[in-house]
Amino acid sequence: MIEIDGTMGEGGGQVLRSSLSLSLISRTPFRITGIRARRSKPGLLKQHLTAVRAAAAVGDAEVSGDVEGSQSVTFRPRGLVAGAHRFDIGSAGSATLVLQTVLPALVTAGQPSSVVVLGGTHNPAAPPFDFLARSFLPLLARMGPRISATLERHGFYPGGGGCVRVDVVPAGALSKIELLDGGDVRWRRARAIVARLPRHIATRELAVLERELGWSEHELEVSVVDDGSGPGNVLMAEIELDHVTEVFTGFGERTVRAEEVALRVARDVRAYVDAGVAVGEYLADQLLLLMGVARGGAFVTTLPSMHAKTQIDVLGLFLGSVVRTREVRPGAWHVEVG
Ligand code: AMP
Repeated sequence: MIEIDGTMGEGGGQVLRSSLSLSLISRTPFRITGIRARRSKPGLLKQHLTAVRAAAAVGDAEVSGDVEGSQSVTFRPRGLVAGAHRFDIGSAGSATLVLQTVLPALVTAGQPSSVVVLGGTHNPAAPPFDFLARSFLPLLARMGPRISATLERHGFYPGGGGCVRVDVVPAGALSKIELLDGGDVRWRRARAIVARLPRHIATRELAVLERELGWSEHELEVSVVDDGSGPGNVLMAEIELDHVTEVFTGFGERTVRAEEVALRVARDVRAYVDAGVAVGEYLADQLLLLMGVARGGAFVTTLPSMHAKTQIDVLGLFLGSVVRTREVRPGAWHVEVG
């Protein structure tokens, strides 16, 4: 039984979710205490609780402490249950984070799976669906499995009500990949989504990207979502390089002007392009987990975030992974999973 201190490192939901993923992979039971203990609303929120229940279903696990607000959970996986799964967060909590919790195990299972998660699809502080579909899953697919993702319905904070479906056909153990250099830019696109909000929010955001990044009109797209979701506004700028695609996201907020939302996205895009690295900050911590499962891999990224460092520590606890990071030039870090 591995003991996890939920306040380690970043101290948030990631410690819990990564522990669940790695427990399923390594078939190792664990107990976690102090879950999100230093957050303003400590313990399991609906999104984390759904991640626990989703992992329990996929791992046929014996679980205790799986109630809202709980700060400790014990989790004992007994097997791996591929097939059709459906999880409902019951709030706008991130559906993509729940999916990421169970996918590493399901892509290495003996049978195909389809996973449907209801909740938020475009949430602040989580990968939006488009990041999952365009950035994260194609890299996972490069490690072996066949994967397709469908956005059945958008879900924005705080309304929720979104639905994401992911189908996977495993291909044995994950193979190692390296992302040392992104390659050349093949394609760029920015999309501003509005749901039950005025279209001018989207056009103003795109105008800022046009001005700040010099992207041309054919690379900018307004998307008016009419699937009953919302209100919501999200701006996503996507850069497809030869070997990796990155998606930078900004969320409209009641008190923040559309121009400011877009300026932040433009700043993130510029920082990534100027750094000349393959892997951006968010992809880095998510990729670390996959490379841990693949028992190896390497990439070049910007200064490792607290999420990345925490991921490295959790990988060490469950898999004994050794991860080496070193600065190869100012602002560029080589990360190697051994
Ligand atoms: P936590 O804060 O512990 O719930 O973890 C949040 C997770 O969401 C981390 O894996 C982050 O890399 C990821 N994340 C946060 N914001 C973004 C974003 N804008 N795009 C992609 N991934 C994100």
